[in-house]
Amino acid sequence: MPELFIDGTWRDAADGGTRTIVCPADGTEVATVAEATAEDAEDAVLAARRAFDAGEWAATPVQERSALLRAFADKLEADKAEVARLESLDTGKRQVEAEIDMDDIIAVFRHFADVAGSDAGRVIDTGLGHVSSRVVHEPVGVCSLIAPWNYPLLQMSWKIAPALAAGNTFVAKPSELTPSTTIWTVRTLHELGLPAGTANLVLGAGGTVGPSLTEHPAVDLVSFTGGVVTGRRIMAAAAPTVKRIALELGGKNPNVIFADADLEAAIDNALTAIFLDSGQVCSAGARLVVEDSVRDQVVDEIVRRAGAITLGGPFDPDAETGPLISGEHREKVEAYVARAVEQGAEVRIGGARPDDPELDQGFFYLPTVLDHCSADMDCIQDESFGPVLTVETFAGEDRDAAEDAAVAVANDTIYGLASAVWTENAGRAERVARRLRHGTVWINDYHPYVPQAEWGGYKQSGIGRELGLAGLEEYRESKHIWHNTRPAPAGWFRR
Ligand code: NDP
Repeated sequence: MPELFIDGTWRDAADGGTRTIVCPADGTEVATVAEATAEDAEDAVLAARRAFDAGEWAATPVQERSALLRAFADKLEADKAEVARLESLDTGKRQVEAEIDMDDIIAVFRHFADVAGSDAGRVIDTGLGHVSSRVVHEPVGVCSLIAPWNYPLLQMSWKIAPALAAGNTFVAKPSELTPSTTIWTVRTLHELGLPAGTANLVLGAGGTVGPSLTEHPAVDLVSFTGGVVTGRRIMAAAAPTVKRIALELGGKNPNVIFADADLEAAIDNALTAIFLDSGQVCSAGARLVVEDSVRDQVVDEIVRRAGAITLGGPFDPDAETGPLISGEHREKVEAYVARAVEQGAEVRIGGARPDDPELDQGFFYLPTVLDHCSADMDCIQDESFGPVLTVETFAGEDRDAAEDAAVAVANDTIYGLASAVWTENAGRAERVARRLRHGTVWINDYHPYVPQAEWGGYKQSGIGRELGLAGLEEYRESKHIWHNTRPAPAGWFRR
């Protein structure tokens, strides 16, 4: 079956173009899929426009929209192992991790099914007995949903579920490297009865299909997750037609450890914070910010344990983490480490490809720790999006000075997605958490999130919020309807 889905029909690319998807763990071919042209992308946008203007999905009662989201969650639950396998083959991540992603996606669809009908608007008391004044919510319109390769279906689900809950139509574009689970999703939504033209799917390079999705006047909203450079480009592309935009652009997330922390827990979580999914996580704890008095104890143990992490492919039962997404991405990580060393960082562990011949065909890179880093170095300011932990320290003569120093170091980048603070002092935990300029702050933990809570970035980590209630609001307009039940002349101008 062809893989582009436009106006309720599966089709090949207009020029017959295809792309081969390979598994990053061993370079084996996973699938060959259609590679859309700019013309295909425009067709998809126009199909979504026609469907929205026809109004079928927006007019579907919210209970039925929620029921469809729930039915999708149930289907994914039933097919979890199979869909996780598709995700693992495209990304190289371990099947067990992909199954956790599937659980999260199921929870996301159920969350938006729950909240879709929870707020139908409100009545305003104008004080005028003959006036009925109310605020109602309506869908924004045609949404372009653009997702990256690290959590392909999870990040797409944060967009598709609220877009559908609110009654929009959309064109989804997964990363060109990881399309399989989004194809499965669009097929399943169609089989569950979503009206033709409501969900459209284009696969293809951002540079080719991007302009239709981000510039076309028929698009009302662009929701993008990916790198900050592409995010700026998308913001500029959407500006001439003043589209709504939602951007999630990653981070350079500080994991702050005070000397009074439970160090065993802090060290263990510092490893998960950065080396989970080989650091290809927008909220990865890539910056260790540790109080100087415990720095040797903390860093030495992290280095020792980083050196013992087992790399492997999706179905290797011994593997603890997997490869990078592509050869090109691994080269970027290598260049990032080389630049850090040029600027004075010390490689304590890793800093190279593994020499295990069994991993030769994959895009693996060793867990790496860069010591002696500071805010004036590129490795602190730029995302590596790989398994690379940088180490910075702070110190202060008294309680307040130590907290001031930690906060100053932690906040000193253009990003503001996530951070963590480790301390056994509850007052300190609250004070520091309130001063960190990030959309998510963990206290004595790293990484957990729930779909009921908002997710998004301060500063250049993005615009808008996903998940929570705000994640639904992104996809809704608010309309004020004023109804004068006793019409009368205004009497302002002379007759
Ligand atoms: P990009 O930001 O370039 O890509 C993310 C998505 O945007 C992909 O679907 C991509 O398509 C698409 N895209 C690219 N250019 C355009 C465009 N002009 N218009 C519309 N869509 C476009 O990520 P990269 O893969 O290049 O990674 C670069 C860096 O971004 C990483 O090294 C990392 O630092 C960061 N990143 C952050 C993520 C996050 O979760 N916040 C996720 C992934 C990356 P295609 O893949 O087909 O080109």
